[in-house]
Amino acid sequence: MLDVCIIGGGVIGTAISRELSRYQLQVRLVEKNEDVGTETTKANSGIVHGGYDAKHGSLKGFFSAKGNAMYPQLEEELHFGYRQTGSFVVAFNETQEIELDRLLENGTKNGARGLSIISGDEAREMEPHLSKSITKALLCATAGVTSPYELAVALAENAVKNGVEFSFHTEVNGVEKTDDHFVLHTNQGPIEAKIVINAAGLYADRVSAMIGEDNFTITPRQGQYVLLDKDQSFMTDTVIFQAPENGSKGVLVTPTVHHNILVGPNSDYIDEKGDVATTSEVISRIMEAGRKSIDAINTRKVIRSFAGNRATSSKHDFSIGETAVKGFVNVAGIESPGLTSAPAIAVHVADILKEMGVEMVADPNFDPTRKAYQRIAGMSGSELKNLIAEDPAYGRVICRCETISEGEIVDAIHRGLPITSVDAVKRRTRAGMGRCQGGFCAPRVMEIISRETGLSMEEIEKQGKGSYLLTKRTKDALERGGQDA
Ligand SMILES: Cc1cc2nc3c(=O)[nH]c(=O)nc-3n(C[C@H](O)[C@H](O)[C@H](O)COP(=O)(O)OP(=O)(O)OC[C@H]3O[C@@H](n4cnc5c(N)ncnc54)[C@H](O)[C@@H]3O)c2cc1C
Repeated sequence: MLDVCIIGGGVIGTAISRELSRYQLQVRLVEKNEDVGTETTKANSGIVHGGYDAKHGSLKGFFSAKGNAMYPQLEEELHFGYRQTGSFVVAFNETQEIELDRLLENGTKNGARGLSIISGDEAREMEPHLSKSITKALLCATAGVTSPYELAVALAENAVKNGVEFSFHTEVNGVEKTDDHFVLHTNQGPIEAKIVINAAGLYADRVSAMIGEDNFTITPRQGQYVLLDKDQSFMTDTVIFQAPENGSKGVLVTPTVHHNILVGPNSDYIDEKGDVATTSEVISRIMEAGRKSIDAINTRKVIRSFAGNRATSSKHDFSIGETAVKGFVNVAGIESPGLTSAPAIAVHVADILKEMGVEMVADPNFDPTRKAYQRIAGMSGSELKNLIAEDPAYGRVICRCETISEGEIVDAIHRGLPITSVDAVKRRTRAGMGRCQGGFCAPRVMEIISRETGLSMEEIEKQGKGSYLLTKRTKDALERGGQDA
């Protein structure tokens, strides 16, 4: 029997799995999709917030300021991609300037660091493409950007290294409480565990209701984005928020950790938790709003649009703690700033388990580090030459847009988590993230996955949920008279 079963492989579940791998516990994480970080964790702004925005006294305020401070060390240990860029909240009028004062005061109470209010000219000196209409800005020097799905992968890989098991394609459909443990009913059979941690994101209300804890609901609140080409990175290397006005937070313009520019999101309640479709109406609205901060935003430079859904709780804050059902812990309603807060929430969950009386013996073999990828893009000629001499696969470029080699893809496939989809490779290596969006490299990535894992080409998915790219060989289809072709 497991000591702990974690439901959900987003950034929260993976952060908890890594934290618990510090102890001598038998832990498994179950995830209904084909990989970690495939839902809200893969589609958000990727900002490590300063911690000034969430209301003082709320869990969001407490954990975001704490989580922010943990990122530099986490990056040093796990190499997932993080840059401390700083952020501005820009004001265009006196009403918004008052908002900046309020945010400064709130942030100071939360323990946010590096806050100051600067003039519009000072802000433009730092970021020359900012609009001339900006009158003042709240600078937060400790804000940054990260790659959310690479963080989830890094946390999970480190947890695997330290003994945590991961079960993908495993959906929990029911939870039964016996005298001293739980039985999780899944599509892959029953799983027994003494402690259950519900980190099911948008579905945390449904999982909680499985043990009768139905005192909150999660409503999806959508955010759509556009991603601009890397040649637009001149616009800003600082995260640009707009000051909130009339209850609206405005649209942000931000560099990504990989030097694209991201514009968005909107904030609209929707009916379906899994609805991540974008619409031209919302995209136009976002671009228009973004141009208020930086008017150089150019529609022709959009390389893709995407949407993510916030897990907005009826409790209006994070819900973290043991429920009335002993041994069942909810980590629910983790909307923004959940990415920022994840490392601090994970430590808190370990503390909750200690308070619950779980024997938490430190594992002397725990290794907090994860090997960085050898990225050929950006390597010097001599570095590349040495690497290719060691392993010729680094000399074969598979993704031309992002300059990703076969060596990087092979490395990604052999890091302890099962790889069954083209997007799993894309999230780890960036193969397929460039201008052609995988048009050239996807078939070659499939061949490498097939060769390295033993899966047939027909078994490889685009992004889980039966999204197969090939059904059968052309020859087989033709032999059947082209009936299924
Ligand atoms: C538009 C938008 C912008 C945001 N911007 C930021 C930001 O800039 N900075 C920041 O700090 N935060 C931001 N956030 C918030 C952040 O993205 C989330 O707080 C975080 O990703 C939540 O992670 P999670 O692990 O709780 O959820 P998820 O990533 O959704 O993971 C939950 C997992 O549980 C799995 N699951 C669900 N039900 C079951 C089941 N029954 N059985 C098995 N598995 C199950 C799902 O498949 C999923 O993989 C933003 C969110 C959105 C939507």
